[in-house]
Amino acid sequence: MANSVPHLPDELARYHRQMLLPDFGVAGQRKLGARAALIVGCGALGCLAAELLARAGVGHLIIVDRDLVELTNLQRQTLFDEHDAAEGTPKAIAATQRLGRINSAIRITPIVADLTPGNVESLMRVHGSDSGVIELGARESARFVEVVVDCTDNFQTRYLINDACVKHHVPLVYAGVVGVSGMLMTIRPGAGPCLRCLFPEAPAPGTTPTCDTAGVLGPLVGMAASMQAVEAMKVLLGREDLCSTTLTEIGPWHNRFREIALDNARRVGDDDPCPCCVRRRFEHLDAVNPESATLCGTRSVQITPGHSPAHRLDLSEVARRLAPHGAFVATPHLVRGAFFREQETESNNPITLTIFPDARAIVGGTTDAAVARSILARYLGV
Ligand SMILES: [Zn+2]
Repeated sequence: MANSVPHLPDELARYHRQMLLPDFGVAGQRKLGARAALIVGCGALGCLAAELLARAGVGHLIIVDRDLVELTNLQRQTLFDEHDAAEGTPKAIAATQRLGRINSAIRITPIVADLTPGNVESLMRVHGSDSGVIELGARESARFVEVVVDCTDNFQTRYLINDACVKHHVPLVYAGVVGVSGMLMTIRPGAGPCLRCLFPEAPAPGTTPTCDTAGVLGPLVGMAASMQAVEAMKVLLGREDLCSTTLTEIGPWHNRFREIALDNARRVGDDDPCPCCVRRRFEHLDAVNPESATLCGTRSVQITPGHSPAHRLDLSEVARRLAPHGAFVATPHLVRGAFFREQETESNNPITLTIFPDARAIVGGTTDAAVARSILARYLGV
């Protein structure tokens, strides 16, 4: 590649327009190149956040995602194409292949896995191996990534990431988008509120819309992911003082944008202290892993939540949310039914779902626990 900026060393020339900015320059660019970021979730938010950070020259990106690329992802998940969807390539792998063509000078480690209480702290550490294979517990570095970017689609994982980041004092850039509105917050452990200061408990499974049930506006995701990338870059450059200290709501479809001040939002008071960042009880991190078991002879997977929901599920509400996606019925004891044919497995069996009031679920038509957990995240937000 020809160096079109002769006064810069070859490895920095590509970043010339960025290095003209205040806070960057040669020193800032080299700092970015020495930093690592963990991106959890490589859907629409994760694709763009990862691409922007890769193009900016962040030295090491670790990308965690459990899902495979599907045709319905292509409307907004900018790192994937029709070939990836036809092949059913894991998102973390497809993203890494694409990002490697965008910037071959940085390290990218794809992790095709669920983020769980058992692996989150290990995945937050910077590993020496380029292979992408992380053996839990083996040769763990003492160094954590400098920032975590939360691009997940479910509350269980968000609270888990919040616990891990607060525990290890790693800044976290959170964003959530669904329908035509999104929300963004930068969590700097110790310096401001954490997720649980604002939202003490996760909503009950099936009570909140997800992108798969309510849809999502593609450009909105781009806005939220771009803002996440900016916040992450501030952290990586050591300019945390510039980070947003508000909860930002973005609603471009109705031209609604709002900054909610968080000056007094950290729950430090004796009457109702935050269990996570004040009392330092990491309930989601200490929970047992959500248990999955392949049910013998039935070609189905049972998922038992590791952290029981605060309320029993409203089964009729769950059935109502699932109705556009399949034929489901609610009885007093469970909801069950089958998804329409877009949700097919490799053997063309329809995916069936049975869910109980305590959020235990049986996903039929697959023996793959990751597929089963993905179905629950997409349709029930758990
Ligand atoms: Zn807190």
